[in-house]
Amino acid sequence: MAPTVQVSAPAAGTTRRIEVDGDVLEITPLGSGAEVGRSCVVIRFRGKVVMFDCGVHPAHSGMSCLPYFDHINPAEVDLLLITHFHLDHSGAVPYFVNRTEFKGKVFMTHPTRPICRMLWHDYARVSKIAAEDQIFSTADINQSMEKIELIDYHEERQFRGIKFSCYRAGHVLGAAMFMINIGGIRVLYTGDYSREEDRHLPQAEIPNVRVHVLIVESTYGVMNHEPREQREHRFTNSVHQIVRQGGKCLLPVFALGRAQELLLILEDYWERNSDLHEIPIYYNSPMANKCLRIFETYTNMCSDMVQEQANRCNNPWVLKYIQNMPDRHTFAREEAEMGACVVLAAPGMLQSGASRELFESWAPDKKNGIIMTGYSVNGTLAHELKADPETVSLADGRKVNVKATIKFMSFSAHSDYNQTSEFIRRLKANVVVLVHGEEHEMNRMRNKLKDEYPDLNVTAPQNCQTVALRVPPDRSADAVGPIVEELMLGVKKGKTDAGVSALLVEDTTGSRALLRPEDLISFTQLTTCQVEQCQRFAFQHSLAVLGRAMMDIYDEVEVEDGCLSICGSVQVMLQDQVLCITWDSSPINDVIADSVSLTAIELTKSPSAIHALRGEDAVQAGEERLFKVLCTYLQQEFGRLDLDEVKQTMSFEVDGSKVHVDFATRNVDCKDDDLKGRIRTALRRCERSLRPIPPF
Ligand SMILES: [Zn+2]
Repeated sequence: MAPTVQVSAPAAGTTRRIEVDGDVLEITPLGSGAEVGRSCVVIRFRGKVVMFDCGVHPAHSGMSCLPYFDHINPAEVDLLLITHFHLDHSGAVPYFVNRTEFKGKVFMTHPTRPICRMLWHDYARVSKIAAEDQIFSTADINQSMEKIELIDYHEERQFRGIKFSCYRAGHVLGAAMFMINIGGIRVLYTGDYSREEDRHLPQAEIPNVRVHVLIVESTYGVMNHEPREQREHRFTNSVHQIVRQGGKCLLPVFALGRAQELLLILEDYWERNSDLHEIPIYYNSPMANKCLRIFETYTNMCSDMVQEQANRCNNPWVLKYIQNMPDRHTFAREEAEMGACVVLAAPGMLQSGASRELFESWAPDKKNGIIMTGYSVNGTLAHELKADPETVSLADGRKVNVKATIKFMSFSAHSDYNQTSEFIRRLKANVVVLVHGEEHEMNRMRNKLKDEYPDLNVTAPQNCQTVALRVPPDRSADAVGPIVEELMLGVKKGKTDAGVSALLVEDTTGSRALLRPEDLISFTQLTTCQVEQCQRFAFQHSLAVLGRAMMDIYDEVEVEDGCLSICGSVQVMLQDQVLCITWDSSPINDVIADSVSLTAIELTKSPSAIHALRGEDAVQAGEERLFKVLCTYLQQEFGRLDLDEVKQTMSFEVDGSKVHVDFATRNVDCKDDDLKGRIRTALRRCERSLRPIPPF
């Protein structure tokens, strides 16, 4: 089974290079290629397929609002990552998940899922108007919901060898930028994002890791937003001006998301201007109460300002001056006498529904005003109004005179040119793919980025046009653990017993880690085990004989406490004429142990070999002489000894501490460690004095 490795984040400047093959990364927009709407971008790399977003086009209906799914085989898509709930990013999910061969996983953030569910049901209800325009049913939504999995900001997930995580994107509640990592290549898809902190949401984060490919929205092209305070001031002034002259102010908005920002701005302005207190502000959303509950649930994901208010036990979403709009018929009856009022109504681009009806009714009166606060997609009435027409033609042939003031000021929370330029610089991205922008704007942005960053590879593909990037062979590995310091300081720590100075570990996503062998357990999920080997067999000679034979092969042969140690790694003991060889298995230790057992077998098979080596008689004679010298020495040093000349043992007492010496095994038994040390030293001195070349 292939091991799974979790590698910690790399420290800066700790990359070393190794050789592996290169590959081609393909990026294909199936929607949002040189257009705004139906975001859907497919990445193909090393056999993995990831789809970012799956939206519908707001200016189209029926099947033509879908991304070009027929360009791919949905069964090949491993992962579908949805950045936020806006329908141009999420609206095609129930279709793709339930009505195609897609078998992968779908991920979105916690707030995105319940909001999507609500918006999809609303969309299915609206698109039911024409059966042939219905791209999914309520049943499709319910079945899709079961397949959607949740992800938190910064949570690292992995599926089929693709690592992925998400970051705060600003824009709307729960909006996320997704980072995927396949084989060490990191691709960041921003979706819609904003680096501007607003009243109800924090700004988009800048991921603290190097990004190889950045797929970024280009909605605002080379334009830059006016500062927020200035824009808010202009907005509230415009609203004030309309209502002051007794006019009705229409704010077409997407039901959820940016509408909450406008509500907070208006609430604050009304609070500060007492002359406005009698003028009603209506929030026309059939989902208003559900929206309120969702925002209350996820207050912790909102801006500091909103959270602080919630912490003071003020529900930031219960607004004093804003009321839900009565149903359409009641409103139609009342509005004639109502005079000045402000209405926030969906949809944001006046395609149909409440905002469209109010526009048709209010546009002919010059006292009234319409303020477009969102982005308007080509092909919608909102976009048409940009040309400042005197009349607009409706689909049913009617014409509407436009006498009301029409203003455009964006609160749509998309990144502007300066924000995106800074984002690219901070991410150190080499390759940038522009999506989600009108063709002309997108191309101007590409040219400006190329002027600003001559080395940057910037492309702006059309729908179904594939950007193929040859990814240079990735030879990098992340150094982890103490080896990082060694590499940075250029210090070389020694090799292990097996001659290994570092391990290179690759996980199923292709990420590599370089680490010291002893750090394997700490920094990976791999486990290591040490095989302890032991061999036993009968041996009729003494340990000293074997030791002497081993000295012909190795320099490092020592005897202590009745144990023969060879090269510090193989231990040999002899007890009751049974030789016991123990060692921790490693290629080198195994060879040493083999040589010990072979030598012992050789000595057992042919006693003459002992003579051939050193001469057993001489060995025996030498041992007896040494025993006698030692006895004399110890007697002089410590006084009376109890001797057993047959077993070659001696016992004595020094200041109450009992000592027992087994000469054959050189084992010293004594509870007093200092005394034990002195006797061992004495033993070694005697041996050295008798043998010019010490045997042990
Ligand atoms: Zn959006």
